[in-house]
Amino acid sequence: MSLVSEQYQKMGISEAVYQYCDQILEQLKDRFETIDQTAEFNQMKVLNAMRKNQVSDIHFAATTGYGYNDMGRETLEQVYADTFHTEAALVRPQIACGTHALAVALSANLRPGDELLSPVGKPYDTLEEVIGIRPSIGSLREYGVTYRQVDLLNNRDFDWDGIREAINERTKLVTIQRSKGYETRPTLSPRQIGDLIRFIKSIKPDVICMVDNCYGEFVDTVEPSDFGADMIVGSLIKNPGGGLAPIGGYICGTKACVEQCAYRLSAPGLGQEVGASLGVLPSFFQGFFLAPTVVAGALKGSIFAANLYESLGFSVIPNSTEPRYDIIQAITFGKPEGLIAFCQGIQAAAPVDSHVTPEPWEMPGYDAPVIMAAGAFIQGSSIELSADGPLKPPYAAYFQGGLTWYHAKYGIMMSLQKLVDAGQVTL
Ligand SMILES: *Cc1c(COP(=O)(O)O)cnc(C)c1O
Repeated sequence: MSLVSEQYQKMGISEAVYQYCDQILEQLKDRFETIDQTAEFNQMKVLNAMRKNQVSDIHFAATTGYGYNDMGRETLEQVYADTFHTEAALVRPQIACGTHALAVALSANLRPGDELLSPVGKPYDTLEEVIGIRPSIGSLREYGVTYRQVDLLNNRDFDWDGIREAINERTKLVTIQRSKGYETRPTLSPRQIGDLIRFIKSIKPDVICMVDNCYGEFVDTVEPSDFGADMIVGSLIKNPGGGLAPIGGYICGTKACVEQCAYRLSAPGLGQEVGASLGVLPSFFQGFFLAPTVVAGALKGSIFAANLYESLGFSVIPNSTEPRYDIIQAITFGKPEGLIAFCQGIQAAAPVDSHVTPEPWEMPGYDAPVIMAAGAFIQGSSIELSADGPLKPPYAAYFQGGLTWYHAKYGIMMSLQKLVDAGQVTL
């Protein structure tokens, strides 16, 4: 027995589970090599932006109050803009989360009478209330912004004709969600998004194309901003925060769009000049610096889980061999016991709250009890190893993150161990 397998055994992983996982991992060497190459490329992209902007310890100082002349904040925003190849960026702790960043980007660039179009089907749950698909206080709908949606054909292909028909004289902004989120459609690649943007702009050149880039950053060597997106938007407690940012969101894009966002985020007349960084800048810089390798670890975890559970007969999305454009993995257990054991395994492997046993609970806004595993340093951080799923058919767990590949690996092995112990799987 090797030193490491002995250590895993001390930590509750049986020899049978370890051997089974090891044989799956043997087959993934080439795939992991490709992920490492992407990480290497993206590491250089970030490093290059930091060198170009002469990041220095003066940029790590905390500002307070209005935060005028915050050189660190301005430099960080330039580093984001240079990395994602955009003219400008807004990267702030005042942006509370991904939903907030998206709400700012939308409401800043839409005016009463404008129409918003989603050509990729239903957006992420929390956006339904931002847009007003579900009635909500302060929604775009309350401000007289209408919404139109064109679904994907067969849950996969763009409905080109439908999109052409949906674009009208009021269409001002198109929102494109890269990740599947909690839907079963595939995640879109930056190139596919580029094709869509080109098509939309060929019909109406001045329409603003915004991409919800949540969970997609650094999975590929390119981003949607390399293919014509006017804005890309995301959360710092997901990929680009590298696990270190304790809060925050970003909007990168054209100078005109980002300027609108800055006035909306602070106040008309104030804009980008206001917003103290309150001491979070070191974690923003350092987290962004680590993000390419953190994302690589998370991606290896997703691929390992897909291959492991597919080999055991469970349905997994994406499947074991598909290309990846985000870090989310869905595993369908078909039974509540499977979903619960899986989540309990992820929790038991966590660096924080490993002693806690997650149980399904009735969460506000959901129509079935939800079970969540999240032993995270930062509350709700889903770049850290986490899993959740609603207790209703098909009993799917959504799994993502892992600040290091080895932690993701241990979490997945522990999930299998719990399934074996619960009699849900026989090896
Ligand atoms: C997570 C996510 C959001 C919302 O981000 P929060 O930080 O949870 O508010 C929006 N869109 C997609 C695709 C996401 O994955």
